[in-house]
Amino acid sequence: MTGLEIELFRARSDNFGVLLHDPASGSTASIDAPEEQPILDALARRGWTLTDIFTTHHHHDHVEANLALKARFGVTITGPVNEADKIPGIDRSVGDGDRFDFAGHPVEVIETPGHTAGHICFYLPEDKLLFAADTLFALGCGRLFERPAKDMWTSLSKLLALPDDTVVYFGHEYTLSNAKFAVTVDPDGAALRDRVREIEAMLAAGKHTAPTTIGVERRTSPFLRPGDPAIRKHLGMENAEDWEVFGEIRARKDAF
Ligand code: ZN
Ligand code: FE
Repeated sequence: MTGLEIELFRARSDNFGVLLHDPASGSTASIDAPEEQPILDALARRGWTLTDIFTTHHHHDHVEANLALKARFGVTITGPVNEADKIPGIDRSVGDGDRFDFAGHPVEVIETPGHTAGHICFYLPEDKLLFAADTLFALGCGRLFERPAKDMWTSLSKLLALPDDTVVYFGHEYTLSNAKFAVTVDPDGAALRDRVREIEAMLAAGKHTAPTTIGVERRTSPFLRPGDPAIRKHLGMENAEDWEVFGEIRARKDAF
């Protein structure tokens, strides 16, 4: 299915805001609600009225505008069942494997514990769209605040099971810093080097680095390639489990 329109914009210091709009019904969802004014501006630019908020996790920079937007538009807020008590204004709690309908478009919930214990991603299989928030970034992933590396690796593996042409929107414009770190883990990776040059050119031209795709991240992100022999050799972890290599990469990024 096609026909959904997307408006991507920046909010706060480095968050992305995303609006998802179905022209036939007029339904419009905000993926998270980082900040009210940029969302109002984006709605005004497109002439859309907000009907839904899809909340991925409880962090302040993802839910700050929930109550203000609910008061203004009477939106329905759909969010993670495993941290529902921390989501302001939540109307509908959803968990792993749940499916619901957005204006005729099937939405699947993929639970990805790691960054937070209850973090969810919203996947629209027929539209080939994934809203990954702070689970998967371009050349990166969210910090492990509430669950250990092994759990996050399981979560990322679920996203890696999606088709390569899945378009991925994510929560923060951290891509330049992620790229600078990525080359320290995979200094000889040709695909990564090409990608870094592309990213630098996009940012120099004032473009967003979102969205990305599962295929691009699968080929270039060190966080998604703990099985790569060159990365393992570089880290001296030839015989470790994938999740252990992933955990080492995440720990190095924390200290980068
Ligand atoms: Zn977060
Ligand atoms: Fe965030």
